[in-house]
Amino acid sequence: MEDFAAQTSRYLFATPGRQPLMLVRGQGCRVWDSAGREYLDFVSGLAVTNLGHAHPAVTAAIQEQAGQILHTSCLYHIEPQIELARLLTENSFADKVFFCNSGAEANETALKLARKYAKEHGQGGVEVISCLGSFHGRTLATLSATGQEKFHAGFHPLVPGFRHVPFNNLEAVRAAMSSQTCAVLVEPIQAEGGVNLPGPDYLPGLRRLCDERGVLLIFDEVQTGLGRTGELFAYQTFQVEPHVMTLAKALGNGVPIGACLALEPAAAVMTPSTHASTFGGNHLATRAGVAVLQTLLEGSLLPHCRKIGAYLMDGLRGIARRAPKVKEVRGKGLLIGMELDREAAPAVAYCRERGVLLNATAGTVLRFLPPLIVTEKEVDQVLAVVEPALKTF
Ligand code: PLP
Repeated sequence: MEDFAAQTSRYLFATPGRQPLMLVRGQGCRVWDSAGREYLDFVSGLAVTNLGHAHPAVTAAIQEQAGQILHTSCLYHIEPQIELARLLTENSFADKVFFCNSGAEANETALKLARKYAKEHGQGGVEVISCLGSFHGRTLATLSATGQEKFHAGFHPLVPGFRHVPFNNLEAVRAAMSSQTCAVLVEPIQAEGGVNLPGPDYLPGLRRLCDERGVLLIFDEVQTGLGRTGELFAYQTFQVEPHVMTLAKALGNGVPIGACLALEPAAAVMTPSTHASTFGGNHLATRAGVAVLQTLLEGSLLPHCRKIGAYLMDGLRGIARRAPKVKEVRGKGLLIGMELDREAAPAVAYCRERGVLLNATAGTVLRFLPPLIVTEKEVDQVLAVVEPALKTF
């Protein structure tokens, strides 16, 4: 389809800002556009295809499942859903899981759970403390939790009950807490907000503070989870367990799925009829999730992610030393941001035109999110394009 941009604007809401590209095929870290051009994909569908495109285990699982049964609804027991919940709980702090279809829905679940938990076990507070610069989704409640005004514009009044405090500031959380607080919601690394890392005392301090006040600590691991930071979950990278955690994105390697995981006392407040999703955790999505989890757990992908992440970070820091436009390179594993002293979009366009897909976040941050299977050779190819990109514009 040659005039895809015109067709998109003719038929679709203009809501996402799209790049002038239509990708039609993927294999590993590579994708091809409708004109047959090849690209190295360092976006991974926004941290979704962590195993790479067309991963054989995921492809085989969904092909087999599609021939058996796709969907029966939440009215019935679902075998791969049980299996995926078992894998998730056996490999995390959590006791129970609720499946849904996206990151926003996973966070909605956590927010409802927090209110109900406070009513049954705490002081009945309804306020959630979240951070400036955070991103938690686009539904009204998750948008209200999101601490970035640019996403709020046009949608007021927001859902009441959210207080935003600066990220990485424990005192601000302490000061914002009251008998009205029911939870603290935080991304272990602010991903959309510019790849902002927590200081060493921040996450442990949050857990202590939440325990002291009897409120829930919710980690939004929608982007950091499933191997992205070099451990299965970022809370393991930072060695701080939350009470509740949300996942989505890479859980299905491209098949839409979300999950809210919780310790038993918190999970237990979600009694029959309090929450449900028609599609959530259906056979197809959870079968894909099982293949993803098994691949992440069985293979050497997590150590590979740590090693290749360090290699990419070193390469980018080398470029930063030679390119005065770069203010900082930061990240964990394969979630890496390069902060520029100017808008990053022209660098994204330059790289795209030379066969490398990156994205810009928070305006000035070039983000690197390759599949976890990326090789040194592929990293070298990307570095060879990024360096001149920073010299050119
Ligand atoms: N939470 C975080 C940390 C995210 O990065 C995102 C999406 O980028 C979301 C939630 C929302 O996920 P979804 O777009 O699947 O609703």
